[in-house]
Amino acid sequence: MTNNLIAQLAVPGAQALVPYVPGKPVEELERELGLSQIVKLASNENPLGPSAKVLSAINQLSTELSRYPDGNGYRLKSALAKKLNVTTEQITLGNGSNEILELLARTFLQVGQESVFSQHAFAVYPIVTQAAGATTKIAPAVNYAHDLDAMLALVNLNTRLVFVANPNNPTGTLLSSADLKQFIGALPETCLCVLDEAYYEYLDDAQGQDSISWLKNFPNLVITRTFSKAYGLAGLRIGYSISSTQIADLLNRVRQPFNNNSLALAAAETALADEQYLHDSVELNRQGMSQLTIAFSALGLEWIPSAANFVALNLQQPALPVYQALLEKGVIVRPVGVYEMPEFLRISIGTETENQFFIDALAAVLAETK
Ligand SMILES: *Cc1c(COP(=O)(O)O)cnc(C)c1O
Repeated sequence: MTNNLIAQLAVPGAQALVPYVPGKPVEELERELGLSQIVKLASNENPLGPSAKVLSAINQLSTELSRYPDGNGYRLKSALAKKLNVTTEQITLGNGSNEILELLARTFLQVGQESVFSQHAFAVYPIVTQAAGATTKIAPAVNYAHDLDAMLALVNLNTRLVFVANPNNPTGTLLSSADLKQFIGALPETCLCVLDEAYYEYLDDAQGQDSISWLKNFPNLVITRTFSKAYGLAGLRIGYSISSTQIADLLNRVRQPFNNNSLALAAAETALADEQYLHDSVELNRQGMSQLTIAFSALGLEWIPSAANFVALNLQQPALPVYQALLEKGVIVRPVGVYEMPEFLRISIGTETENQFFIDALAAVLAETK
């Protein structure tokens, strides 16, 4: 069999997929450039590292690794249900919230059906849609933010999923509760709204939205959240959704029986209870955001105001050469050309020292490229 034939055997959705490009791993840059000091601000990871309590929970569990994990995630689901004031039957656990997005696509999309999302929205939405053989409909953004009216205009009776990331990645833009509720209420009953709240924990009380309380009015609403960002567990891969019990039941049938490993389950349960760590993470983020934006102002640069743990910086020139020059100085950030933002870099908020290392490198690179 030739490779060409193999490619043709793949389902059309898979053939047309463009692979997701992750942030460059630190080790890769070390190998390529032989640098010793590297700062990675590219994947919206928590710069504090996992909490000490999580590390000790993981250590305690290591003797159990020959056993299968609890396929129902009983303890974590119970803790989440209590914290969020929902029932365990409304919760679905995923191998990262990305898996939940994929489960939604596999459960609700097939050939001839459509998903709707915004321009500049998270790159996983088209991947899961196309892999399911369905069609993407992309609404133009306004000023880099979701235009809910434009999105609604693309919804028809073939639309099964609408993805809304709030705050959105890579722009950091945030929609108001009032606008969101009106939007969800205007969707046909045949269309689910997937509200992706990966950065929910970074919102302050004034911005914070009680989207979970909307579930009782909207049986077609699915809220996804994750332990990858503010809870500092990106490497363990664990996230969840909250929805009607009917939707959760369907996702639960489609998922693999042991989609969450035992270390992730225990770590997430511990992280959820560690309020001090979450508080410190959010506070560090708030300070880092102001450190970076003050520096951007001083450099005469513009950025998109962000409600998350990253900021999209507008260089007003092609961003790739700046990205490359930063790599050579040991700083990894994220170019966002694939998001139709070729003049932007997305910077994850780091520790004060990491942020300063980046700011100094950026200032040097911009001075050289003038
Ligand atoms: C980071 C991110 C996620 C979370 O991915 P995980 O699979 O939970 O690590 C989901 N949605 C958006 C928009 C994100 O930026």
